[in-house]
Amino acid sequence: MTDTRNVVIIGSGPAGYTAAVYAARARLEPVLIEGEVSWGGALMNTTEVENYPGFRNGIMGPELMEEMRAQAERFGSEIVTRDAVHVDLSGPVKVVKDSEGNEYRAHAVILAMGSGYRELGLENEKRLSGHGVSWCATCDGFFFRDQEIAVVGGGDSAVEEATFLTRFASKVYLIHRRDQLRASKVMQERAFADEKIEFVWNTEVADVLGEENVTGLRLRDTNTGEERKLDVSGLFVAIGHDPRSELVKGQIDLDDAGYVKVEAPTTRTNVTGVFAAGDLVDHIYRQAITAAGTGCQAALDAERYLSELK
Ligand code: FAD
Repeated sequence: MTDTRNVVIIGSGPAGYTAAVYAARARLEPVLIEGEVSWGGALMNTTEVENYPGFRNGIMGPELMEEMRAQAERFGSEIVTRDAVHVDLSGPVKVVKDSEGNEYRAHAVILAMGSGYRELGLENEKRLSGHGVSWCATCDGFFFRDQEIAVVGGGDSAVEEATFLTRFASKVYLIHRRDQLRASKVMQERAFADEKIEFVWNTEVADVLGEENVTGLRLRDTNTGEERKLDVSGLFVAIGHDPRSELVKGQIDLDDAGYVKVEAPTTRTNVTGVFAAGDLVDHIYRQAITAAGTGCQAALDAERYLSELK
């Protein structure tokens, strides 16, 4: 059919835009559905990105994403600023519908919808994001050298983040709602043995304090309701992530946590012609560079698949 495109990309973080750059340069004339409200992905919510190669002085998250978007456009990607609301991935020609009812038919689809970091749901948490509130120790730990900071959460990632952050911080408070951790035994033992980590049990974060930057937390005892202030300059929120796989649920294989399964080291899903990249797949590395890397792989996998169809 003449109106059948080569490839539709869903999602607009480093994975989606990188896939678009590669697909466009391979003359596949990709369509990228980037989302209506929040194009650009997770890095739109941060300030300085210091670990994306090529920027020796760092770059602001939104600026990096605008560059990636412009680069995808420069090579002829068609960018649609709407949400993908429905997909049918079953046949050889896939169908994607956007929020205005437009239909895109394509031989291949690249899924790059990312994952959402769970938030505490506090107003000041959002306001101070990138100004002391972080969701990524690997990304931001370096900014907190010799400072006292807190991690909230009780699972593997919270304990891992707290342990990692002791490389930089002078002290790390690990705040948990319960009186024991959910993290694996080995991780717990490592954290308990670390003199820089102080456990704050049966406690939740009631508010994040500070005007320009985080200066402290208001903590609430989950048993007594009693509140107190804790002076810290950073808060790492490590209470989990939710992959945005709702759109394809029931159509492709997902793991128990909802991440899209791929045939590693490729980006192929269990459905022919459907590829997946970035944090939608990855619950281990979760970095802009790894998302961009798998976005590139997905475009190359799609390109190979399309050339075999001819
Ligand atoms: P995302 O960036 O999540 O992008 C997916 C996009 O697709 C989103 O915009 C979403 O709205 C859109 N989308 C989802 N569903 C649909 C749909 N149905 N239709 C249309 N669009 C859709 N990493 C680093 O390497 N360095 C850092 O310094 C760093 N700092 C970070 C700071 C913060 C605050 C956060 C939250 C993350 C940070 N990360 C950092 C991690 C990094 O941002 C992610 O690993 C990366 O953005 C994942 O890219 P992605 O393309 O897979 O998904």
